[in-house]
Amino acid sequence: MSQATVTEAVAYAVPAAKAPLERTTVPVRAVGPRDVLIEIKYAGICHSDIHQARDGWGEGIYPMVPGHEIAGVVAAVGGQVTKFAVGDRVGVGCLVDSCRACEYCLRGEEQFCAEGPVFTYNALDRNGAPTYGGYAGHVVVDENYTVRIPDALSLDVAAPLLCAGITLYSPLKRAQAGPGKKVAIVGLGGLGHMGVKIAKALGAEVTVLSQTLRKKDDGLALGADHFHATADPATFEQLAGRFDLVVSTVSAPLDFTAYLGLVKTGGALVNVGAPEEPVSLNLFSVINGNKSLTGSMIGGIAETQEMLDFCAGHGLGAEIELIRADQINEAYERVIAGDVRYRFVIDNSTI
Ligand code: NAP
Ligand code: ZN
Repeated sequence: MSQATVTEAVAYAVPAAKAPLERTTVPVRAVGPRDVLIEIKYAGICHSDIHQARDGWGEGIYPMVPGHEIAGVVAAVGGQVTKFAVGDRVGVGCLVDSCRACEYCLRGEEQFCAEGPVFTYNALDRNGAPTYGGYAGHVVVDENYTVRIPDALSLDVAAPLLCAGITLYSPLKRAQAGPGKKVAIVGLGGLGHMGVKIAKALGAEVTVLSQTLRKKDDGLALGADHFHATADPATFEQLAGRFDLVVSTVSAPLDFTAYLGLVKTGGALVNVGAPEEPVSLNLFSVINGNKSLTGSMIGGIAETQEMLDFCAGHGLGAEIELIRADQINEAYERVIAGDVRYRFVIDNSTI
């Protein structure tokens, strides 16, 4: 191993479900032969952090250090590390380990590992120790679950790509969003705004479906061709049967029956939002028109690297509001109120 040794990290943690985040320290595991020690420079605040901090999905492990949009610099490497060296610019997303042998791991879908992937936080690692996320000074991660942040992207705007970017890139690529395809992105938040940028860069005709027209100027500036308010019932009549692909990024339950009405015959609605309550669906909305309703969860490690290289090549970073660590609790309230343009990113030097 070379360079720094760190046994604990300063961090912002949720001590118990629904409690505000507090400054604390958490243990950092020793750097193993294939590990890298990362000095975290920036961490994005994903709505999933808020769902989990407040135990909205259940089974939360506390104290919890959220954060799975991690951008930093390698501070030390284990003796067998081949991919990274001290000083490299790196990122970590939602997962930090998996079995590496099941059919899903072998085809680059580690997020669906048959033994269960190890998530970056709110999880137990393969030795049974809790994992702690990006709202911290340092983290140790296996090099195979670490990706390289291209020089063309600054670390602060790159951080949100590690979750928001890959979560939209993966389904857009899979659906072959591109020239000649009409794509709608529902919800212009952290995920949605990256969806607009990536779908546009892939060559699709992009429509934003937002609750109101409040973000219209931003949506068009991000590259959208059209922008409609879903609070206006006329939108659903005007756009009926319009889209090859509708991607919902909405964090709250949505009337999918109505949104499937916007999908073309043979088209698809892909849901990536993870609301805390179930939704109901009139199944005639998929029967009539051979439509698909599918989901999509982040992406694999190689695909995450591909996404970062794509974003760097097209100059696509996130639109961010940089905050100090002592503003995280306030930022959570602002995300819930829809008052973020379009991702809060923590400056980890302020922890
Ligand atoms: P976000 O920044 O809060 O954006 C969500 C957007 O949804 C809001 O900006 C808002 O857009 C819209 N929205 C919110 N409440 C709504 C409501 N009641 N009705 C209609 N629209 C509403 O959140 P995010 O970080 O992008 O995350 C979005 C969701 O995706 C969360 O549930 C998160 O947990 C989930 N997620 C899933 C994955 C995955 O792998 N599938 C990965 C990351 C996150 P407008 O103001 O434009 O209407
Ligand atoms: Zn996320």
